[in-house]
Order: sequence, then structure tokens, then C-alpha cells
Amino acid sequence: MNSKDLGWIAGFIEGEGTFNWARVTPCVSVSQVQRWPLDKLQRLCGGNVYYIVRKTKNPKWNDYNKWYIYGDEATKLIKSIYPFLSPKRQEQAKAIYTKRYQQVNAPKLIKTICKHGHLWIKKNIYTFKKDGRQICKVCARGWREKWLQKVVINQEVLNGNI
Ligand SMILES: [Zn+2]
Repeated sequence: MNSKDLGWIAGFIEGEGTFNWARVTPCVSVSQVQRWPLDKLQRLCGGNVYYIVRKTKNPKWNDYNKWYIYGDEATKLIKSIYPFLSPKRQEQAKAIYTKRYQQVNAPKLIKTICKHGHLWIKKNIYTFKKDGRQICKVCARGWREKWLQKVVINQEVLNGNI
């Protein structure tokens, strides 16, 4: 992306865009009756353009087009146009950025021990490959020992020793 394109993108988003938070992910969007500027945005930045039908709901309303970009692509875009933005927009950009940063780093910042008080550090964490779920290895060893104890006791019962 050259600086001329970047200037155009920044100016367009400055005037017509919305910085937002779509549930758990950052989102930049622009709504326009004209389609071509949004196609240009998509070509330069990625994202998607949708045609929004409104006339069927109310004949006074116009159909329009909406371009969206989400997630890390959105934060990357915000970062690259940041120097061109007005102070008001820069505030919005910073808010998005801060929230995204906290979100990405939250597990590391908050979780320091497991619910049984073992240190939540790399050495003690097991991650399941299939779903990324994490468990405490120290706890898991405890479960295994309890399970083994049960097996031994059951064997003793079977043998008539208990
Ligand atoms: Zn534990």
C-alpha cells in the first residue's frame, strides 16, 4: 500500500467510518449508497462489502452498501492510518487498541494459580491438542493417584483382603 492510498483510506474512514466492537472483536465499517469507494477499500485493505436492502422495509429509505473489516485485520488497519486521523478518531483508535491488547493478554495477566492453588506456569500446564483446553498437571497427577488407589483397593476387595 503506497502513501497516496493510505492517505485516501484514512481520509475516507475519518469522514465516513465507524470504529466499533463487534461482540468480542474489533470492527471498522463504512456505510455508503455508492458502491465504488467500498470496493476500492476492499481492494486496498481486505474485508467484505455487503449490499443492505432497506427499501422493502420503508420506501423512503435507500438501499446502501456496507464494508466491514474485523479482528486483527481491523486493528492492523487502524494502526496504519492512525497518524492521519483527527484527535477524536485517534482516541477511538486507542480505545480499540487498548481493549484488544488487554483481551489478547488477559489469560497471562489474570490467571496465576489453578483453582487448587498450584502455580499456573508453563511447566504445570497441559494443553489438549484437540480443543486447546488447559488443565493443571499437578491436579491431574492427583486425579491419577486417586484413581490408582481406587484400583488397588478394588483389587484388595476382590482378593478378600479387605
Ligand atoms: Zn492444580
